[in-house]
Amino acid sequence: MSASSSIPVAARRRRRVLGWFGGEEEATPPPAPASRTLAQQRATVLRRLFDDIGTLIFSHALTPSPCAYGVLHAYVSGEDPGTGEAVAEELRSGQGLNDASIARIAARNDAAQAGALSRIADALEARIGDCLAAVGESRGSAETFGNALHVEAGRLSSDPQATIKRIIGLTEAAVEAARLVEGQLQRAREEADTLRNDLHRARQAAEHDHLTGLPNRRNFEQRLREVAGGTAAVALIDIDDFKQVNDRFGHPAGDRVLKFVAAFVRAGLPREVLVARYGGEEFALLFGNMSVDQAVAALDEVRQRLSQRSLVHQESGAPIGHITFSAGVAIAGREDALTAADLALYAAKNRGKNQVARADP
Ligand code: GH3
Ligand code: MG
Ligand code: MG
Repeated sequence: MSASSSIPVAARRRRRVLGWFGGEEEATPPPAPASRTLAQQRATVLRRLFDDIGTLIFSHALTPSPCAYGVLHAYVSGEDPGTGEAVAEELRSGQGLNDASIARIAARNDAAQAGALSRIADALEARIGDCLAAVGESRGSAETFGNALHVEAGRLSSDPQATIKRIIGLTEAAVEAARLVEGQLQRAREEADTLRNDLHRARQAAEHDHLTGLPNRRNFEQRLREVAGGTAAVALIDIDDFKQVNDRFGHPAGDRVLKFVAAFVRAGLPREVLVARYGGEEFALLFGNMSVDQAVAALDEVRQRLSQRSLVHQESGAPIGHITFSAGVAIAGREDALTAADLALYAAKNRGKNQVARADP
């Protein structure tokens, strides 16, 4: 969604949020001074969006999880009317929001996504049915044509002229029938192509994170479950002091840094390594056919190169400085692989951040 179309919706939502808190109804914001750039105005609106989400999280004592953030972002930004309405419903009910209602709304979202996929699958099935019917019809008319030809062939010697006329008529009818079937097949094929594209997009959306374009947590966990035996390692990465980036440069700049780190890590590792956004400023990696030592070495190299980069705020040119991450790596095969990687990550943070730690065996 473009900035210009999201701003009024976000502003409207914000007034509604304040309304529910019994806060003052916000007057229409005064026109921005001409000296403020569009980018600055946008940053202010997005900053408010971020603040509103934070206010909702803390005023309802919610766990500040990626799930809560996602649901409340959908509500405050107005970008997902279905989720927004579900949150509004909870707020109106007087019970207020809690972790359970947030989880329920998020699960409903997942179900809606599954619903979209199943609608596409139904439509595809119907088109396949059309194709089969058209092929069946075509086979039926070819058979009828064959039988009629056979009968006419027997009459050829007794009345050749009239028989040839009838055969020409039969042939023309058969050609016309074939043309009709061909048209039906062509239309079914075009619709199936469109549906295949829809399906591809829906699958992509369900399995990828929209900010970074990386596979999402669901995708990662699915792939991790598929790791059976063999050598493989799993890593959890967490950007160091990322909150400060948001605090100092605003949420949109934070988003850009996230995208940058995602692309940097992705580009710095072999294609076979699965790099997913696990949530917030955390990434999960699956190193197929790599030992923990190899994964640590590969990841540490990326960490080192990233820490040497110096980032600059796109709009103001102010230095953001060095962005670093900490990571924990564990064997992927073990039952508690993610917990082990998370504990190692925690240890890396405790030892001063900007480092990769190996989980205890
Ligand atoms: P630490 O080194 O201990 O990891 O510190 P930290 O500041 O990175 O960790 P903390 O958990 O305190 O803060 C993480 C921040 O990441 C808070 C949250 O608002 C921000 N965040 C999470 N998801 C997003 C996002 O999609 N975009 C932006 N801009 N910020 C995000
Ligand atoms: Mg974190
Ligand atoms: Mg962090």
